[in-house]
Amino acid sequence: MHVAHSLAELTRIRQELVQQGNGLSRERPLVGLTPTMGALHAGHQALIARAAGECGVSIVSIFVNPRQFGPHEDYQRYPQMLEHDLELCAAAGTQIVFNPPVAEVYPEGFATTVAVAGLTERWCGASRPGHFDGVTTIVTKLFTMCRPDRAYFGEKDYQQLTVVKRLAADLNLAVEIVACPTQREPDGLALSSRNAYLSPEERRAAPRLYAALQAAQQQFGRGVTDVTELTRAAQAQLATGSGPQFALEYLALVDAETLLPRPVAHAGDRLLIAARLGTTRLIDNIALQ
Ligand code: AMP
Repeated sequence: MHVAHSLAELTRIRQELVQQGNGLSRERPLVGLTPTMGALHAGHQALIARAAGECGVSIVSIFVNPRQFGPHEDYQRYPQMLEHDLELCAAAGTQIVFNPPVAEVYPEGFATTVAVAGLTERWCGASRPGHFDGVTTIVTKLFTMCRPDRAYFGEKDYQQLTVVKRLAADLNLAVEIVACPTQREPDGLALSSRNAYLSPEERRAAPRLYAALQAAQQQFGRGVTDVTELTRAAQAQLATGSGPQFALEYLALVDAETLLPRPVAHAGDRLLIAARLGTTRLIDNIALQ
């Protein structure tokens, strides 16, 4: 596995590996990219291993992107564990890890923002102003630097996935966006680098976020399609137990593509939730079935 810290190194190694090709086959190998902010867990690992399995040349970027954090968010304390991350990438079959310093990505004088309208305005976009502009700017840069044929994103960050698909289509970025299912702890909690912030009591309470989504799913399974009733079931579940309580940020049933709220639930709609447990902000979502 190669580790590149500069665009020049990345370009050279990528070029060499592409030229070496698919072993005996003469076809140009697919280049796969999995963008991450490091502190890698089994959720990332699923994306990284899939990219390595499907693409002859697979790149993982590890870059904590300052532009997608608000001024009072956790950029300064975001977990970093590069040694562990490199081991995980190597074990998953990655060929190149791209781990640039901030100045390599945003040199002096950097002045461009890539913004997707509409899809970014609600939900996480409303509570984290500027967040998605940071995401779409870094994703565009990573695509132009790594030049992947495919890029792997998790459904865990469902709004981000939808926004990135829009970005790739709107700008003809010629990258296939591959959506990968959310990986969870055995108790249902979606894996997240931010779970490390939770106190033991908060960690015990945290699976209620997914349980809340499942409570709504259960009602839908029984034929309930009224959104007020579905969200009431979810909220009741979120508030159970005597431990730390969630502060709900949003709970919304939305069309899976437009992310606009739905008055009546349909199979395939997405139920999105964001809530704080102490100082930690957690998000999750499911597709109604
Ligand atoms: P992050 O490092 O948090 O920016 O995440 C990098 C990528 O991993 C994003 O596409 C996330 O959606 C994806 N990801 C994070 N957590 C999970 C998870 N639990 N299951 C699947 N994908 C995930």
